[in-house]
Amino acid sequence: MSFFKTLEVKEIDDKSSVEIKEKEHVKCLILGSGPAGYTAAIYAARANLKPVVIQGMEAGGQLTTTTEVENFPGYPQGVTGPLMMDDLKAQAERFGTDVRWGEATSVDFSGRPFKVYVDGTSLYTADTVIIATGATAKYLGLESENTFKGSGVSACATCDGFFYKDKRIAVVGGGDTAAEEATYLSGLAEKVYLIIRKPYMRASKAMIKRVETTPNIEILYEHSTKEITGTNVVTGVTLIKRKGEPDEREVKIDIDGFFLAIGHKPNSDIFKDWVETDETGYIKTQPGTSKTNIPGIFAAGDIQDPVYRQAVTAAASGCMAALDAERYLSSL
Ligand code: NDP
Repeated sequence: MSFFKTLEVKEIDDKSSVEIKEKEHVKCLILGSGPAGYTAAIYAARANLKPVVIQGMEAGGQLTTTTEVENFPGYPQGVTGPLMMDDLKAQAERFGTDVRWGEATSVDFSGRPFKVYVDGTSLYTADTVIIATGATAKYLGLESENTFKGSGVSACATCDGFFYKDKRIAVVGGGDTAAEEATYLSGLAEKVYLIIRKPYMRASKAMIKRVETTPNIEILYEHSTKEITGTNVVTGVTLIKRKGEPDEREVKIDIDGFFLAIGHKPNSDIFKDWVETDETGYIKTQPGTSKTNIPGIFAAGDIQDPVYRQAVTAAASGCMAALDAERYLSSL
């Protein structure tokens, strides 16, 4: 069964030269299925915008890779990330949201209706688009990171720090995020190692001072991560001190948790030709709104938030985007 109301066999889109196999028009197209996308869908569906959600590569978003979520209001006993995303999806569907597999592969926002190509061959035309494609935490690219993801390796201190009370933790990175996460974790853990590949930190002076003066944070400058070790859970990490130098040597430390804080990549590549982004790729929104530089295109969640990056702030901005989209459509 096809989800599409209009089936067109092999039409060639004039502008993009994309071979269109299926085509459909929707009032409100939501790209991304994290807390921002689903919350936008709940509000848009209740406003009768008949939203269609294109789930994206990682259905359910970043929370599906975490274990317990204990800081989302309304779950007094906590909830697993995947279960919370199932609940949000079910809530959006209860009001008529159409949730579909697929990934937006290119867009054309030059005219109206807006065009969004999904999986290279399906064309959606839309009166409004809510971009909620999120950001992806960067990883070092080690095989051992994948082995221990969810059982000792994390890229979110506020999500997972609680599980390391009185334990030993390593944080990798020398920017503001790493400094902030190390400081946060130092309030929970017995000891935090901050692993920095250069002989200095890139973080702001105030943040550097804070980590330097926190007694249970030990900064390891000029250390690179070679391997995270353990059997079922993380028990240590092997580092290389002064990599590439004549006095290069291996250092092993015992840890229970390994946190990545080497930056995030906003998933905005396909929008950059149309929507204004900052130098890192975060979509710029007008302060206090979800409005981008193009009327009718809205952004919510981590794609436009380099600072807070929490499920609850993403959900709140998804609500804003749906309300902004509804008001935009009413004003036409
Ligand atoms: P940054 O890009 O600023 O820093 C990334 C850090 O990770 C750098 O120290 C970098 O090292 C290191 N790194 C990158 N790749 C690797 C690797 N493969 N191995 C080891 N280390 C690596 O990212 P942040 O997330 O820290 O910050 C992003 C932006 O958000 C910044 O503008 C920051 O100021 C801002 N921010 C502001 C906050 C606030 O104001 N409260 C809080 C958090 C972030 P190197 O220096 O060697 O390149």
